[in-house]
Amino acid sequence: MRASANTARVAWRLFLRVSTVERRVSLLAPLVALLASAPALAQQHVRARWTDDSKPAVRPRRSLPWPARGRVGIRIAALDDPIGPLANDATATGPRRDPPITRAALRDLGLRPRGLALTDIGRWPAEPASPDKLEGSKLAAALVPFCDLSVSADQRQRYARWILRYSSEFGVDPMLVAAVIAQQSRCLAQLHNSYGIGLGMINPHMYRRSLRKGSYSYGVRDAQRWRPQRLALERFSFSRANLLAAEPNIYFTAAFLSVWKRQCPDLDRAPRSAPHRHFVAHYVWGDHVHDAGVEDRILTVRRQLLERYRGKPYMAGRAEVAGVALDCPLDGAPRKITGVIGDDRDFGRRRHTGIDFDSTRGEPVRAVADGTVILAGVDWGGNYLGNLNPHLTAMVRPERMGPRGLLIKIEHQNKLVSIYMHLSAYSVWPGQYVTRGQLIGYVGRTGIKQSPPHLHFELWHRGVLVDPLEALTPYLFGPQETYRGRRVATLQQRRRTQRRDAGRKRRHPRLEPADPFSVP
Ligand SMILES: [Zn+2]
Ligand SMILES: [Zn+2]
Repeated sequence: MRASANTARVAWRLFLRVSTVERRVSLLAPLVALLASAPALAQQHVRARWTDDSKPAVRPRRSLPWPARGRVGIRIAALDDPIGPLANDATATGPRRDPPITRAALRDLGLRPRGLALTDIGRWPAEPASPDKLEGSKLAAALVPFCDLSVSADQRQRYARWILRYSSEFGVDPMLVAAVIAQQSRCLAQLHNSYGIGLGMINPHMYRRSLRKGSYSYGVRDAQRWRPQRLALERFSFSRANLLAAEPNIYFTAAFLSVWKRQCPDLDRAPRSAPHRHFVAHYVWGDHVHDAGVEDRILTVRRQLLERYRGKPYMAGRAEVAGVALDCPLDGAPRKITGVIGDDRDFGRRRHTGIDFDSTRGEPVRAVADGTVILAGVDWGGNYLGNLNPHLTAMVRPERMGPRGLLIKIEHQNKLVSIYMHLSAYSVWPGQYVTRGQLIGYVGRTGIKQSPPHLHFELWHRGVLVDPLEALTPYLFGPQETYRGRRVATLQQRRRTQRRDAGRKRRHPRLEPADPFSVP
């Protein structure tokens, strides 16, 4: 006891010897930080303990991409609802430590959707319908490129069979269920993280409160009030172990999709969600849709699945430039565009010369028309492009590449040239003849410094740049139709004006106003 008191005294003297205030502060800072983080550590401990067994973790999912103000426990129905919060409010289960939400904050949330949400939902063409009768084996085959390599053909067959069985039981589109499974978990039944569990990445916190004794309760609105509804889900119990098994997970995925299908129009009557086209957005976000980005990714996978099921694209030969019929370079058209010709690049040092397709890494890239490959290689930087054997591309470090990354140039009829950039790999050789729709490579991130993976596409006719936004219109959704596109456009407009003004100033130096304090 005495010894420890002595040690403390010596330590205190040593501390006082440290001459400057700054150094004392810097020595004390870690201790203060440790004390301040104690509650958080305790919280983490609770979380770790809870995630071990079947009890829900404390943190609700899908609140992650949203900034702090959006994380407030949104109980939207409580504001104007005679029967209280909706049954499946995503955030209702979490602890309410945040301040109560105001109407103004809700309006704010609704008015500031993120990502590539469409500004005008009505302009998006209707999603293609699924065939009336789907075959399990063909569906399993269509799933191949979307599933992880570890998923066996046998597993895919079983998944396809269950998808067909349960989607017909709950009256939802089997292709939608398949797309959710492919996009959310890549068919990995054992996948689980803070977003969800299993094939459909089901968020248990979204549903478990409303699921009692094999009956799921939710609300549907008639003229004035929310009417309680029930859906019997008795085949499997809603447990973590069951959600990690394939069949029960597909069962619940189809069931919950059917509930959101019924609820979406009622939920959207109040303009609190980001604009979205499809009820699948609620499957991801809950009552309150923050962003239509995931919805679009799921629906794109659905269109791609349908194309694979049919064995041919829905949209082909609808565009023409210089007498050459063009297809979309990516599957599942129409696709969203995130960048257009003339955008700033390298902080205004150069101009964007093509369009950027919003896409995911590894997506197949196809030749837009018949033609001959004139370049399949690497941008080595300094405007030097060189051919490279496709098998050797993996040996080039991406950070050594110039801004174009791995790229392909194809010359078509009438001196029309198409260019595909930032590929992760390609499978063609210079001089090779390719046909329209032939697989030439895969979407990647080579040469990109900041943006997520995307396909950069260019068209040239007799050495003159062609705007693909006009040439490929039937396959595209231009950025002017998305919120992000609008935001980027205004930002660029502002930069352009600033640059122009700066240039003017340099050319015509204005006379400085007279100094009011100077003696005349
Ligand atoms: Zn909705
Ligand atoms: Zn680009």
